[in-house]
Amino acid sequence: KWDEILNTVKQEYEISDVSFDTWIRPLEVFAIEGNTLYILVPSEQMALSYISKKYLAPLRVAIVEITEIEYEIKFILPEEARTLKLNTKPAKATPAVTADESNLNPNYTFDTFVVGNNNRFAHSASLAVAESPGEAYNPLYIYGGPGLGKTHLMHSIGHFILNQNPDAKVIYVTSEEFTNEVIESIRNGNASSMTKFRDKYRKVDVLMIDDIQFIIGKESTQEEFFHTFNALQTQGKQIILTSDKPPKEMETLEERIRSRFEWGLMADIGVPDYETRMAILRKKAESDNFDIDDEVLSYIANNIKSNVRELEGALNKLLAYNNLVHIPITMDIAEKELSNIITPDKPREITPQLIIEVVSEHYHISVDQMISKTRSSDVAKPRQIAMYLCKNMTESPLDTIGSLLGGRDHSTIIHGIKKVTEEYEKNETTRNMIETIKKKINPN
Ligand code: ADP
Ligand code: MG
Repeated sequence: KWDEILNTVKQEYEISDVSFDTWIRPLEVFAIEGNTLYILVPSEQMALSYISKKYLAPLRVAIVEITEIEYEIKFILPEEARTLKLNTKPAKATPAVTADESNLNPNYTFDTFVVGNNNRFAHSASLAVAESPGEAYNPLYIYGGPGLGKTHLMHSIGHFILNQNPDAKVIYVTSEEFTNEVIESIRNGNASSMTKFRDKYRKVDVLMIDDIQFIIGKESTQEEFFHTFNALQTQGKQIILTSDKPPKEMETLEERIRSRFEWGLMADIGVPDYETRMAILRKKAESDNFDIDDEVLSYIANNIKSNVRELEGALNKLLAYNNLVHIPITMDIAEKELSNIITPDKPREITPQLIIEVVSEHYHISVDQMISKTRSSDVAKPRQIAMYLCKNMTESPLDTIGSLLGGRDHSTIIHGIKKVTEEYEKNETTRNMIETIKKKINPN
């Protein structure tokens, strides 16, 4: 049976011939005493510590698979073998690795996810994977900064798959949880905990590991992950990973793992633009039945730009206030309540991009329309106002303004500015309108 065990180890862990011949084939069963299996390592100390570090867990698993007995394994060297006095040890109880449910957050679904330019690609990729797990893109690797919706998308895929097929086995773990389970099953030192671990992770239809960057540098976890990954991928099971950076920027990631990541599809999520931030706030307010002025939402969206979690945090703070005091949230209240989140002493930099965003929002058109070729007056007029404000509120050269506004040439910009300047002088309504927009751009 020993040969069978060794061959199992070789196959299941994809050990190369040279590694197998060097480390594993020479191993011999020296003795079995009670629950303890003594394995003789016929070479010096170095190899012993290496073998026990690298191959103890695989051996344990293979032994329990083939003998159906959970042995405690001890490696011994020839000189120890000569002096070894065997004594019987009681068998240890084996704590189970709990077989978790998929543990998905019920609020993180495609329905509640707002699609914007920053996440459109990641969203479609996720949906494709959800529709045909294991077939569309494998692995799917979603990356981006904190609070931008990676976990939300990942859970959405899980829900979608479970909706289509309630029997699908979907597992979501953070990489800390995964790491802890690897460590736990190794430390437990019994084969059944290793087998349970492997049963849990290798017999799934969809494995989702969140924030995979945290397994980097954790050797045994990386190793176990690699084997899990290979086992699932060869069975055509879907793997979904998220990270704060693309594989090529993970410096200490082993090359073989990096290349696996790059086999599938990589999709990044960027920082949401103003419109997307507003849409997220509106959607959230609506689902919380929170009646709140667009002006206040706009204030939040203008001041919190790079993290959706913080955006929601600000809204939640106002919601909590509203629930407590039952009065409508005014700008004054918002500014006061959010003063430790939004710091007005750091004046917002006024850029042409900001101006374009604010003007679009003011006129209820999209930035895309603003920079499009459309000449219909409901878009052309705001566009000219944006030109005018860029010229008056920033130092940007006309060429820059032109290119930000959809690649318009010098003379178009000059014409636009001139028209608005004239209007501003002779028409009070226009003047008031422009002053209002200016205030939105620069509230100070
Ligand atoms: P990450 O995993 O990238 O750090 P999360 O997925 O945890 O970010 O998102 C942070 C919060 O922002 C969550 O509450 C999530 O629901 C919300 N969120 C992020 N992006 C969107 C979006 N496009 N639409 C709706 N909510 C979003
Ligand atoms: Mg996350």
